[in-house]
Amino acid sequence: MNLEKLEKILKKEPAFRLKQAEKAVFSDLIEDWEEATTLSKNLREKLQKEVPLEIKGRTFVSKDSRTVKAAIELEDGLVIETVLMKHTDKRNTICVSSQAGCPLGCLFCVTGTMGFKRNLTASEIVEQVLFFERYLKKNNEKITNIVFMGMGEPFLNWENVKEAIQTLNDDNCFGIGSRKISVSTAGITEGIEKMAEDFPQINLAISLHAPSDELRGELMPVNKKYSIAKILKSVDEYIKKTNRKVMFEYVMLAGVNDSEEQARQMAKLLKKPLYMVNLIAYNPNGRFESSPAERIKKFKAILEHAGIFATQRYRFGTDIEAACGQLAGKENRPKDNFLI
Ligand code: SAH
Ligand code: SF4
Repeated sequence: MNLEKLEKILKKEPAFRLKQAEKAVFSDLIEDWEEATTLSKNLREKLQKEVPLEIKGRTFVSKDSRTVKAAIELEDGLVIETVLMKHTDKRNTICVSSQAGCPLGCLFCVTGTMGFKRNLTASEIVEQVLFFERYLKKNNEKITNIVFMGMGEPFLNWENVKEAIQTLNDDNCFGIGSRKISVSTAGITEGIEKMAEDFPQINLAISLHAPSDELRGELMPVNKKYSIAKILKSVDEYIKKTNRKVMFEYVMLAGVNDSEEQARQMAKLLKKPLYMVNLIAYNPNGRFESSPAERIKKFKAILEHAGIFATQRYRFGTDIEAACGQLAGKENRPKDNFLI
């Protein structure tokens, strides 16, 4: 699919044509231009030829059926991954990718170890949402929440992510409210500032993962440019502007960042009114061990005792490599091409 082309073609038509076409694609979820009966036959034929609506995706369903991973093939043959998580309270969250690969190379993340291929276009980001809206429609269900926590760093591709969010928000298209959308960053402060300006209602999540610059720098090379102090300063500015809660993500790595002392350091660092912590069980990528459940519980208890609101993330789809940090876009490639 190439939605940029759609705009180009419809530029020559009256403005309402684009609205009609967008409504047909994103809201009525047509998969064939023949179904867009508000458009003339000529236009439908032209669009059929130049903007085909097919999305090349393969799905993988977890044993408990609550997680579905889609491997979507792009025009240039690259494969990106998008994950649907079906919650017990009927929410359907999808986790979208903003880049093919990621340049930031965090040690615990499979996407990081595969390197960076390229930024996704706004249309390629929207296409991931569309793929799962079509998938869910077959059961009369809809996407309720979107998290930018798939492959890539959204703030290194902000212009395209921003354009995609506008389409997600637009009532004529997906109509998904800003409060149902979250963006996670490794701490690119320029991006945090831009998001406060562009979308003050969208949820912000920060990948922190360590209480000191020394350890964070080892796990996340990006810390050399964006230190903890620099990030927290930017988060405080963000909160001043938006008055929104901010979630700090912390992946629990056995013997690396999960000690009681480190929990106390975290508590000291993050004891502020609108800060909250989300502890994530590490999904193995071959480099670390995940913290035992007891340790995660203890870590959480120390944070809570210090007055910090802490939650633990439910683990979705490890059996189909769809969990956080496991996305690699490798489904169409032979195994030995895959770097771990
Ligand atoms: N690049 C952005 C968004 C994508 S990563 C970011 O880093 O925030 C989404 C989340 O998954 C981040 O919090 C990331 O740290 C976490 N993650 C990465 N690898 C993981 C792994 N192996 N196990 C659990 N969580 C992981
Ligand atoms: Fe990139 Fe986020 Fe993975 Fe780090 S955790 S390599 S920033 S996708």
